[in-house]
Amino acid sequence: MTTTAPEIVEMPQIVAQWTRIKARLQAEVGEVEYRTWLRQMTLAGMEGDEITVNLPTRFLRDWVSSRYGGRLRTLWQSENIDIRRVEIGVGQTVAPASLADNTAAAPARRVESVRPAAVAPAAVPPVQPLQAPSAPPVATNGFNDERSEPKSDLAAPLDPRFTFEGFVVGKPNEFAYACARRVAERPSSPGFNPLFLYGGVGLGKTHLMHAIAWELTDRTAAPVSVAYMSAEKFMYRFIAAIRSQSTMEFKENLRSVDVLMIDDLQFLIGKDNTQEEFFHTFNYLVEQGKQIVVSADKSPSDLNGLEHRLRTRLGCGMVADLHSTTYELRISILEAKAARAGVDVPVKVLEFLAHKITSNVRELEGALNRLVAHANLFGRPVTLETTHEVLHDILKAHDRRVTIEEIQKKVAEHYSIRLTDMSSARRARAVARPRQVAMYLAKQLTSRSLPEIGRKFGNRDHTTVMHAVSRVTELMDRDGTFAEDVELLRRLLES
Ligand code: ADP
Ligand code: MG
Repeated sequence: MTTTAPEIVEMPQIVAQWTRIKARLQAEVGEVEYRTWLRQMTLAGMEGDEITVNLPTRFLRDWVSSRYGGRLRTLWQSENIDIRRVEIGVGQTVAPASLADNTAAAPARRVESVRPAAVAPAAVPPVQPLQAPSAPPVATNGFNDERSEPKSDLAAPLDPRFTFEGFVVGKPNEFAYACARRVAERPSSPGFNPLFLYGGVGLGKTHLMHAIAWELTDRTAAPVSVAYMSAEKFMYRFIAAIRSQSTMEFKENLRSVDVLMIDDLQFLIGKDNTQEEFFHTFNYLVEQGKQIVVSADKSPSDLNGLEHRLRTRLGCGMVADLHSTTYELRISILEAKAARAGVDVPVKVLEFLAHKITSNVRELEGALNRLVAHANLFGRPVTLETTHEVLHDILKAHDRRVTIEEIQKKVAEHYSIRLTDMSSARRARAVARPRQVAMYLAKQLTSRSLPEIGRKFGNRDHTTVMHAVSRVTELMDRDGTFAEDVELLRRLLES
């Protein structure tokens, strides 16, 4: 009998093995690759000596199967000698919480394991001593590898793609970019110490920090020593130092650097001892005229749970935020990345992606990577059609983001009409036009069909919706102000 996912949850060993296998794969292939192809793998079932792993689409299944099938089998066998076969299937297994992918919820855990050089080794290294399945998911970058590293090696590896040259500048990030540039050119300038970068997930904080570090370590004149690490890693190192009674050494090492960078500082919320340690190191370094660069998901004053004096100190230098991307920036980023990948992606496809995937640059990049890989694999040009097919699952997830109700509400607010007028029979221009705009946006931003949209607007016919879409398109072409208005609404809804 096949054991399916919910029952597998009852098998903590299998769950723990699977968690380790995924962590291992992630460390081997790198974050971007992992997110693009492997993150959505779910454990679907177990039958005798066979494990089934599912992916949501056929394309993903074929890809994973051809690229990673062998590796998956080897990893399973190294974890569990009873497993002889690994079947890779297609299915939307809903991953129970305990099987869910750690990385999805914890983007902060990425950088240290991103070393692209860490390609799958030919032989499986000895399996690490087991952690309890409930232990925090640190296997890829925390303790395990930590212990074997020399303690003086403070800096985590830098991602070679995260340079200033590879960073696309636009309105939302130009200030943060300029500050980062400035610090890279002249560290410890008054007014720029500490440099505090903040913003939502995937907007380029880590990228900018690595870029500063690259710039500083690469320069030939008066090289500086830079230590970059995530706050999480900082904490693990600190704890490890306490355990091995080498806190003095830890402190001395940290205090000997010219530039200290701590990524994702919000991780230290609630970790009082580590915060305290960081605070002292911070003060010491600043007093010595050394540069500190810190990133977090919020501004210093909004980092509730971080000690007050630390927040105050963090806000003393330069605070720069990375805003959500705009449509224009997303287009520029896509163009730059497609050009870099050497794949010709039609403007229509770039526009489509920039409209659809608005959450953050990481997801945008992931989608493009997949398109590029698909084009290279099959030697077929990228078209809107292949885009729909290849990104089916990603697009679906993004479709769910805006509902027709939200659109109606926003549009009604914007034009100061009553929400009920979205479905009323009133035909006065003052309400009819906004209603048409809402229908147009519903068509653009959701995957609803014309009849479905019509129903939501007071049971109107699908031809009415069609008419609204073409009317709005026409007006947008003719009237710049109107077009800007609609574009603004679209952005509001997408953000
Ligand atoms: P954060 O640390 O803010 O969560 P990252 O710096 O890890 O985000 O960025 C996520 C991904 O998006 C990275 O691959 C990064 O290179 C890319 N990225 C973000 N912003 C830009 C940009 N302006 N230009 C080019 N790539 C970007
Ligand atoms: Mg980051």
